[in-house]
Amino acid sequence: MTTVDEPRADSAELLAEAQSFVGGPPGETRVGRDPVNLPMVHHWCQALGDTNPAYLDEEWAAASSRGHLIAPPGMLQTWVMDAPRDVAPGSNDEVLQRLDAAGYTSVVAVNYEHEYLRELRHGERVSVRSMAEDLSPEKKTALGVGVFTTVRHEYTTDDGELVGIGRMRLLKFTPPAKAKAPDIGTRAAIAIGRDNAYFWEGVDAGELRIQQCQGCTALRHPPQPMCGDCGSTDQGFVVASGRGTVYSHVTHHYPPLPGVQLPHTVLVVELEEGVRFVSELAPGEPAVEIGTPVRVAFEQPPGATRTLPIFEVET
Ligand SMILES: [Zn+2]
Repeated sequence: MTTVDEPRADSAELLAEAQSFVGGPPGETRVGRDPVNLPMVHHWCQALGDTNPAYLDEEWAAASSRGHLIAPPGMLQTWVMDAPRDVAPGSNDEVLQRLDAAGYTSVVAVNYEHEYLRELRHGERVSVRSMAEDLSPEKKTALGVGVFTTVRHEYTTDDGELVGIGRMRLLKFTPPAKAKAPDIGTRAAIAIGRDNAYFWEGVDAGELRIQQCQGCTALRHPPQPMCGDCGSTDQGFVVASGRGTVYSHVTHHYPPLPGVQLPHTVLVVELEEGVRFVSELAPGEPAVEIGTPVRVAFEQPPGATRTLPIFEVET
């Protein structure tokens, strides 16, 4: 058998190739790890709320016309769920590989039909082999353009007896192109007045300015008209180095906020100068932890109306 490694442009040719495998031979038989057993039946019945004594009550089953417990027929696929998958591929694998190469890379199961040929007893081991049963022409669906294919699963016991058939109907489709990023709007305008004009002038000059009281030299941010320590109204500033560490952080995922690209990480940065500064992590930066060294950057993030002092991880 040949395999397809690289996607190819000619999807019509690939579809024709896929079609040629339909009805072809099954892959190698995959053998279920555990035989039909009561603990797995218990889990199944508990999950589904099924109390049928034919599945669960050994005494009842022994006195029944069968004389023994049976497995719920709906568990058919369960018995091969953990069977090894690295077996020789069947015609269905060949079909699916070509559909992938033709660009139908997404898959959704639309139906799984079981046909039960006989009841399974405890201790029986189930195997499965798979093949391609059909392939539709290209269709337009709500999910995208694609093709339907049916994978036929043949379930057998150790002696090769066919005990059930599953038909899994798949839609292989081309995922639609990603929708354009939604308009995130713009952030509220920043109010700039007499007390904070020096700060924003600094941002425009590429400086992170921190208010400094001219009476007692205390540093503070955000700016205030009067010093809380000495009562002076004579306020100047120092230019901070722009380096600091993450003191605290929180990442906002929902709800959307005007002008904010989500997820959005808000930082409290402890600046080298000892002042804590509320800001945000620049887009595309790695995740931070408390203590992560960061450095100021003067950028206009998406949705912002002006350049802001935001932070990048110090590398
Ligand atoms: Zn002061």
